[in-house]
Amino acid sequence: MNTKQKYTSSIKSEAKRLGFLSCGISKAAFLEEEAPRLENWLNQNMHGNMQYMENHFDKRLDPTKLVEDSKSVISLLLNYYPSQLQNQDTYKLSKYAYGTDYHFVIKNKLKQLLQFIQEEIGEVHGRAFVDSAPVLDKAWAAKSGLGWIGKHSNLLTQQTGSFYFIAELIIDLDLEYDAITTDHCGTCTACIDACPTQAITEPYVVDGSKCISYFTIELKEQLPVSMKGTFDDWMFGCDVCQDVCPWNRFAKPHNEPLFNPHPELLEMTKKDWQEITQDTFTKVFKNSAVKRTKFSGLTRNIDFLK
Ligand code: SF4
Ligand code: SF4
Repeated sequence: MNTKQKYTSSIKSEAKRLGFLSCGISKAAFLEEEAPRLENWLNQNMHGNMQYMENHFDKRLDPTKLVEDSKSVISLLLNYYPSQLQNQDTYKLSKYAYGTDYHFVIKNKLKQLLQFIQEEIGEVHGRAFVDSAPVLDKAWAAKSGLGWIGKHSNLLTQQTGSFYFIAELIIDLDLEYDAITTDHCGTCTACIDACPTQAITEPYVVDGSKCISYFTIELKEQLPVSMKGTFDDWMFGCDVCQDVCPWNRFAKPHNEPLFNPHPELLEMTKKDWQEITQDTFTKVFKNSAVKRTKFSGLTRNIDFLK
């Protein structure tokens, strides 16, 4: 085993030890295939009011512009599939938002991984990214062989489906690079057929400006009256295209205690949500990503579902 292989394998073992589901590595270079796709998507206004998507176009496609002298993009997956789901017949919350805000949990793990690299290998510089606008995380994860991007535009694998977070460490160290895997969507169209707002306009293209996640999380203004009655009881995010995906039959519960929800959250009925107070919101969403929409954002969404 040469030095590069040795470093690569010790980084991957440490990632496993830190609880990541998988780790794949790609050479830090311009994402040629993604460039026209991203440009097209933006030109068609599929990002709606998410203006930040237009920023840093070059940086988003080229990690060497984001992190000086970077050589490798290390992509990491962290499972969030819960062992217990919300009550049936209630207002729904995307599963990724059940517990502690993933930004905190993952940043902390990435920091530990970078520290390990610096202690074991030497003076390596890098930056950690968790769901941050300038990095095309799904494209990097797919390029690194961690899964394929499905017709619903999420990354998925045959072994565990798609309920995981994607994060990256971009570093200035040369490593062994992984190869991409194959697409196993085949003739399936379950996600396209089930999307409550027809946001998957064609296979592999999601019009972000029609997606329930966009409306319930990103849109800061009033929800458009034209969408009334189409949200299928989703009050924060939407998991429909992932829930119906046959590969998610293989999703296994996570083992990260911080992702466990407040016990009351799973029990809340529609009536409880309609009557939610600021105090209950603060209690059940302590440290949660839902806090980013604030009490006013969540109650706006709930009122829209009534
Ligand atoms: S998250 Fe929901 S609304 Fe958005 S594309 Fe998937 S099914 Fe459609
Ligand atoms: S539901 Fe079917 S088409 Fe959609 S991502 Fe899953 S396998 Fe692919």
